[in-house]
Amino acid sequence: MPIRAEIIAVGSELLTPWRLDTNSLFITRQLNLIGALVARKTVVGDRAEDLRASIARALETSDVVFLTGGLGPTTDDINREVVAAVLERPLRLDEQVLEKIRRRYQRTGMTMPPNNQRQALVPSGAQVLPNPNGTAPGLMLEESGKLIFLLPGPPRELEPMVVDQVIPAIRTRLGTETTLYRQLKIAGEAESRVDFLASPIYRSYADVETTILASTGIIDLFFYWRPLDADQPEAEGHRLLDELVARVRGVLGDLVYAEAEQTLECAVGELLRQQGKTLAVAESCTGGLIMQMLTEVPGSSDYLLGGFVTYSNQAKIDWLGVKEDDLSVHGAVSPCVAEQMAAGARARSKASIGLAATGIAGPGGATTEKPVGLVYLGISDGSGTESRKLQLNGDRAVIRIRAARTALDWLRRRLV
Ligand code: ATP
Ligand code: MG
Repeated sequence: MPIRAEIIAVGSELLTPWRLDTNSLFITRQLNLIGALVARKTVVGDRAEDLRASIARALETSDVVFLTGGLGPTTDDINREVVAAVLERPLRLDEQVLEKIRRRYQRTGMTMPPNNQRQALVPSGAQVLPNPNGTAPGLMLEESGKLIFLLPGPPRELEPMVVDQVIPAIRTRLGTETTLYRQLKIAGEAESRVDFLASPIYRSYADVETTILASTGIIDLFFYWRPLDADQPEAEGHRLLDELVARVRGVLGDLVYAEAEQTLECAVGELLRQQGKTLAVAESCTGGLIMQMLTEVPGSSDYLLGGFVTYSNQAKIDWLGVKEDDLSVHGAVSPCVAEQMAAGARARSKASIGLAATGIAGPGGATTEKPVGLVYLGISDGSGTESRKLQLNGDRAVIRIRAARTALDWLRRRLV
């Protein structure tokens, strides 16, 4: 029987239209990788009575219970107290935890407000899970063979704690079923076409479970293998998955950009760095989105020289040297302007490659010849300058993301 987990996301803000519980998605993914399944998820407001009921119910039916959020210093953060009450465990002040919180404040030149003392309250028998990215530590409790985790709400605090502390603890205490998996990340192709190409292969592997996930221009293929019984060796799973991945890569070719969790901009960055090339970007309809994506990668300054956001015709003329005549004859959304933008970005920043995007993101600005979603990309390097026409679907936000990702993917494929 797989381990059954339940996630309780705590916070009244998660019951408003403005905030969404995403922590449970992250936790679910990590649990699935060790063969555990999420049997139920709940979102509860900061009301002790509701929280108490949810915890009691979760403990009846699940092996592992997660509570996220509600560990902060304010009076609406009640998880610690409610869990202690449900499990009938007294809270004590943990001097070590308190000292850590105090020092965290001192490092930034502040003194700890007295209400932070609450964050150092630990139910008896609980293990403290250090939080390297915030003040509130997490907690782990064992109760009649079940595990309860209390984790801070902010995703950047919770995520590393789950990977580094929670998952290993579950593995040690409850044991896990072997689940092996491989991942392929694909860009620049529609989900239906990727599946059309890959499914004849993966369908012939009865022991492998395949999932395909798509999100605005990026597709994830996951292949999972679990032993049929305790005697089946893991090596067999590895062999099967390696063979499947090699065959799928064979039909997808350079559509595959990574075999692990990696962003497209990161893959592009690695290629540029390996080849000692530098990049400059010129953007119109994407308004800086390509630059934003590229600069999300730490160390991108090694290969990214800069970007021009040229929204008006005049900016395209002044900053990139686009010809006024071409703008008036062909318009800003045209192959020749995309090419001149790319060439201009490259020349003015002395980069080895210039990348450009100009298009109509909508909802206004369309004509019969130039509909919403029409985008031209340009690339310029030592061997010449080229443009490419895209006709993208979606609303303004989606068109902008697709245009940026397609530009990055086009650059990537020219580098491989
Ligand atoms: P803090 O010490 O920052 O108050 P906390 O453990 O008390 O941390 P909350 O106050 O519940 O956590 O939430 C802090 C922030 O974390 C929220 O504003 C929200 O942005 C984010 N957050 C909380 N729960 C979730 C969740 N389930 N999914 C995504 N984000 C969340
Ligand atoms: Mg809080």
